[in-house]
Amino acid sequence: MNNEMLHFKSCSKCTTGTIEHNFDAHGNYLQCLNCGFMRDVPDGTTSKTVKRMLAAWHKEMHSNEPAESEAIA
Ligand SMILES: [Zn+2]
Repeated sequence: MNNEMLHFKSCSKCTTGTIEHNFDAHGNYLQCLNCGFMRDVPDGTTSKTVKRMLAAWHKEMHSNEPAESEAIA
């Protein structure tokens, strides 16, 4: 059973990456195919909810970021 879904240009972190919504033994997770951004999400999370979460994280990550350079390893 493989129900992965793709959300194009939806990454909270890099904004242009494709988010893969996937399931494995640990449960549901989201992963950006571009920058490697990854978050666990509750089982049964719908694409609608994923979009809302990504938008919220995007706000979080980009609101109090003075310059996007030094924090990245
Ligand atoms: Zn990304």
